[in-house]
Amino acid sequence: MQVFIRNPRKFRRGSLKKEDITVFNKKLKQSGISPLIIHSSYTLNLATPKKFLHWITVKEFIADLVEAEKIHADYFVVHVGCHKGTTEEKGLNRVVKALKKILKETPELKINVLLENTAGMGTSLGHTFSHYRVIFEALAFPDRLGVCLDTAHAFSAGYTINTPEGIEKLLAEVNDSVGVKRIKVIHLNDTADECGSHKDRHVHIGQGNIGEAGFSCLINHASFADVPLILETPKNEDDDDKMNLETVKKLYIS
Ligand SMILES: [Zn+2]
Repeated sequence: MQVFIRNPRKFRRGSLKKEDITVFNKKLKQSGISPLIIHSSYTLNLATPKKFLHWITVKEFIADLVEAEKIHADYFVVHVGCHKGTTEEKGLNRVVKALKKILKETPELKINVLLENTAGMGTSLGHTFSHYRVIFEALAFPDRLGVCLDTAHAFSAGYTINTPEGIEKLLAEVNDSVGVKRIKVIHLNDTADECGSHKDRHVHIGQGNIGEAGFSCLINHASFADVPLILETPKNEDDDDKMNLETVKKLYIS
C-alpha cells in the first residue's frame, strides 16, 4: 500500500496526531498489509539550486521520514528532483549533498529512501540510470537507499519496456549502475505517451503504449518476483482501481 502522510502539494503544516498514529498502526497490523510505502510531497526538490528550498527540502524530508517510521512505513519514495535550468551535473551534486545530510541526521531510522525514476520532463533528473550511478557512488551505496521503478516514466524516458528485449536492456542498465536488487518497489502504470517523449500521462494497465503484453513480461520477470507492485493508474470511476487490479491479476502467472 502506498499513501501520502500530508498534503502533497504544500509545505508541512503540523504533524500527525498521536491518537491517529495509534489507530493507524492498529488497523495496519490487523489488515496484514505489507509493505507500507509513503510517497513524498511534490514540494520537495533534492536538486534545487535555491538555498532556501534546499534547506526546507532537507528539513521537511527528515520530518517526513521520522513521521513515516512512526506509522511503521518500510519505504519513502521521492522523485530525484529538478535542476531548474542549471546543469544535470550540478543538480546531481545537490541531490547527493541533500541525501548525505538526510541520511546522516537519521541514523536511527530503519525506513528506506527510494528514488523514483522520472519521465525526464522539463529539468527533472533520474530519467536515466546513469544518474543513479552518480548518486549511489557519491554516497557509497548506503543500505537505506534504493530505487522505485515507475513503468510509465521509464517508457516515456526512452526505455522500450513493452518488449522482452527492452526489459532486458533496462535491467542491464540497472545492473550496470546500482544493481537490480536496489529496485524495492514498482509503480505499475501504463502511459498515453510515446517512448522517448518525456511526457507523463498515466493510463489504465494494458490500455496504453506498454500494453498487456508488455506488462505480462514485466510482472512475470524473474528479476521482479519479490518486488511489490503499486498501481498509480487514473481513478475516474469508483471501480477503476478494481478493474486495474483485475487486469494485473489476469496477466500474472502464479
Ligand atoms: Zn510513480
